[in-house]
Amino acid sequence: MFLSFWFTWDDKIMKTLSNCPVCDHSQSSPFLTVKDYTVSKQDFTIVACEGCGFKYTNPRPQDSKLGLYYKSENYISHSDTKKGIVAKLYHAVRWYALKRKLQLVEKNVSRGTLLDYGCGTGAFAEVCFKAGWSVTGYEPDSDARRIAVSRGIAAIGDFKEISSKANSFDAITLWHVMEHIPDLNEKVQQLFSFLKPEGYLFVAVPNYKSYDGEHYGAHWAAYDVPRHLSHFDQSTMKRLLMSVGFQWKSTLPMTFDSFYVSILSEQYKTGQKASLYKAFMSGWKSNAKAKRSGEYSSLIYIFKKS
Ligand SMILES: [Zn+2]
Repeated sequence: MFLSFWFTWDDKIMKTLSNCPVCDHSQSSPFLTVKDYTVSKQDFTIVACEGCGFKYTNPRPQDSKLGLYYKSENYISHSDTKKGIVAKLYHAVRWYALKRKLQLVEKNVSRGTLLDYGCGTGAFAEVCFKAGWSVTGYEPDSDARRIAVSRGIAAIGDFKEISSKANSFDAITLWHVMEHIPDLNEKVQQLFSFLKPEGYLFVAVPNYKSYDGEHYGAHWAAYDVPRHLSHFDQSTMKRLLMSVGFQWKSTLPMTFDSFYVSILSEQYKTGQKASLYKAFMSGWKSNAKAKRSGEYSSLIYIFKKS
């Protein structure tokens, strides 16, 4: 395979961060070794910052090489593939999830301008556009962006084009995107500047402190290294966003993610088709436990610029 040749041949593909992206502390210790199950099959190390506890993939691919690790038919959010039971389930649930996300945005912000940062193939942007929002999508992956544009979305691929839009948006959404961003501090500051005063930021990310996260450990599909560079918990997410001036408003559950992530994690753990029964039990247990602890498989954070 051309790709595996690339992955083993070029050692300049990786870089190591010397400081924590959240608190700038220089000491970290190994937390977990996780395999890239979908593209490279390589092992990656997640480290824990000794200052704030933030978990991040380190070493990690150079920013310019990250695209190589997205080249897989299995990477559903970018390719819209509909093969297999997992993908079918994903698509069935997605419609409901998209509607719920829109409701959540509209509960906090009256209709106006919205930036969907990391819009993928534009599914959420399209839902917002049809509901009357003025929508901009940002998506660096050209294949995904092409699909978004074919849906009628103003999707931008060049970051410079949106970086001129200070104080432009009433709402910015990042649905499972923040964990992919390489230059985290810089981007979070820029997101703050893109919002109008009193604007809202909606961020959904996986939560490794969930039951499914702890149950599957290194096989937990939502570690998804090296595409996921940051592995947030409630404390590190708030610390990062509040450090640039955001005010935290609330944190909400995403209850479907525990099922979807458990199915994939079962596959990674056993190396074969998932036992749907086991995956369902894990997903159900995760939500049941999270009712008390608040540690759902994925969480939506709402922040305000004020
Ligand atoms: Zn730290």
